[in-house]
Amino acid sequence: MLSIEQVAQAFRSLKFNNLASSLEGLLKQAEKQQVSYLQFAASLAEKELALRQERRLLLNKRKAEFPGVKRLEEFDFQHQTTITKRQINQLLDFQFIDNRENIVFIGPPGVGKTHLAIALGIGAIEAGYSVFFTSMLALNESLELAEMKGQLKKRLSEFGKYDLIIIDELGYLPFNQQSNFNFFQLIHSLYEFRSIIMTTNKEFSHWNEFFSDQNVAVPTIDRIIHHAQIFMMGGESYRLKNNLQQQRLNNTVG
Ligand code: ADP
Ligand code: MG
Repeated sequence: MLSIEQVAQAFRSLKFNNLASSLEGLLKQAEKQQVSYLQFAASLAEKELALRQERRLLLNKRKAEFPGVKRLEEFDFQHQTTITKRQINQLLDFQFIDNRENIVFIGPPGVGKTHLAIALGIGAIEAGYSVFFTSMLALNESLELAEMKGQLKKRLSEFGKYDLIIIDELGYLPFNQQSNFNFFQLIHSLYEFRSIIMTTNKEFSHWNEFFSDQNVAVPTIDRIIHHAQIFMMGGESYRLKNNLQQQRLNNTVG
């Protein structure tokens, strides 16, 4: 007599691991609902596909190395009025990724640049794109390390495997001579090939200040903003807003 376990084992050897573990339930359900053979075959395929897709999303989210989870639904557009929900929503068809365009969020600290960048990144993964998040600081360190090991080219090509690279906080620290060059190489290799979302607290006119080498600054900046949608954000820091509310609360209580 053929047992469920034997069939499950056969599925496992075909690498249909998800199916193998849900076979018993699917069989019971099919018997109960008296579905046709064709319907049953379809339900097996659907189950495996759905579980693989779910696993791929989870894996891609982990590989993206987001510093936390931020969602657009949590973003308060009543607080942040220098960018509209409509402007962000129009990015959610992710055509900017298909067109290899960049997005730049410029604004003072706490206004939601990183929040929006992460939320768009998570949305892109859910739409089937691969994403990598890095702070500018970590990026510099990683490129510097690769360069020291003579592996800069290899490291750069790893970035090219993602559809979207998020580079957070350009301009908090100035580049040293080598990182000017490393960063230029990265931007050059991604230009018109992959999309970048970049956040920065500095306006364009000051961007050259964090490059110590002006010969590298101009072509790097050029390539970032050539096909880019640029959002200038302002307003009060959300962190400060919460603190102020807390203080007011404390004052009332105290
Ligand atoms: P920035 O990158 O511009 O310095 P962040 O995106 O890190 O700012 O925002 C700081 C904190 O405030 C984060 O926890 C973020 O989730 C939250 N935040 C900022 N703006 C908003 C907003 N408009 N609605 C909800 N949360 C916000
Ligand atoms: Mg930030």
